[in-house]
Amino acid sequence: MNNNLSHQIIQKIKNVLGGLSQPIPLHEPHFSGNEKKYLENCIDSRYVSYIGEYVKQFEENLCKQTQAKAALAVVSGTAALHLALKIIGIESQDEVLLPSLTFVATANAITYCGAVPHFVEVDENTLGVNPEKLDDYLSTIIDLQSSQCINKVTGRKIKALIVVHVFGHPVDLDSLFAICQKYGIELIEDSAQALGSEYKSRPVGNVGRIACLSFNGNKIITTGGGGALLFQDIELANKAKHLSTTARVVDNQFFYHDQIGFNYRMPNINAAIGCAQLERLDIKLKLKRKLASLYIQEFINIDEVKIFQEPNYAKSNYWLNTLILNDPSLENVKNLLNELNSNNILARPAWSLMHHLPMYMKNPRMDLAISEKLFNSIINLPSTAELVENA
Ligand SMILES: *Cc1c(COP(=O)(O)O)cnc(C)c1O
Repeated sequence: MNNNLSHQIIQKIKNVLGGLSQPIPLHEPHFSGNEKKYLENCIDSRYVSYIGEYVKQFEENLCKQTQAKAALAVVSGTAALHLALKIIGIESQDEVLLPSLTFVATANAITYCGAVPHFVEVDENTLGVNPEKLDDYLSTIIDLQSSQCINKVTGRKIKALIVVHVFGHPVDLDSLFAICQKYGIELIEDSAQALGSEYKSRPVGNVGRIACLSFNGNKIITTGGGGALLFQDIELANKAKHLSTTARVVDNQFFYHDQIGFNYRMPNINAAIGCAQLERLDIKLKLKRKLASLYIQEFINIDEVKIFQEPNYAKSNYWLNTLILNDPSLENVKNLLNELNSNNILARPAWSLMHHLPMYMKNPRMDLAISEKLFNSIINLPSTAELVENA
């Protein structure tokens, strides 16, 4: 990448963010609402662990926000994914489909179940799983005569697809859901980055049987650490709640547990922060979209790069703003990252693709040329909503 272009890019970012007199992180948490007040209430009440009013309130507010029938707050997004897979019956040696372009937690949650992550291709226009390619691929590896969804190549059952709304941009949920129905596999939404995003005017998190959220410090809202599962089916939610609280049977005075459960429930302290953060989500979403439109405008006249824009069926939360290089090259990504970082713009690359990591290199996968291309063209720019609070 020539020097001139990187200087041009830095100038454009400066136009959006201002001075750059100090390092601007990729994404920072903000606590400008009722966080301290609710935390104090929480400590005063001594209900600091997972029994408490804030947990209940946080779950109710999440349902309102996402139009889910039930929500279960847990200790992390990773725990939410693990629990979701357990609840729908993922077992040892099952296969679960997922994109290679995701955060490692998606693949790890599958592995925690003893199941095998199987990587599928994404679409350049959505950054999420490509429906047409998925359908073509499945039709070649699955025996359609059988009532079960068996991978002819490995002999294992393919039980689920986890879709990821990458950087907050919704995947094409209807098309992907139709494919899952056709082959008899479950759909789970990894919505860790997508709270507040909409697909065809509906909040994401409603299409599969379960969607998972994360409230880690770098997500659009945070509880310190935390996650949640969203359900349309109350019975499934109750099953998840039971499993998340050591599978303790509470209608009996003894400590009796009817299966191997987990200690995954979100503590009241974290939920207190979450309640305050959720109150400001709508404000944040407005700021996020304003920041995105500023970036988009600035870069509209540069031929060599563009800012990724939401798919036309979606209204995205723009959790991260993504610069796409038109000429994909790892060298260019590295050089530009170095230039940006040394100018106080703490830009970051996409995650290393899952099939490049030592533990997932030998896993089943389809052709991932577009995933590779995207990895070699993505640079994420500072995206904290409050950067444009006073703009
Ligand atoms: C953050 C994230 C997770 C994991 O959430 P944690 O709360 O960090 O465990 C899972 N999947 C995706 C896509 C994420 O971005």
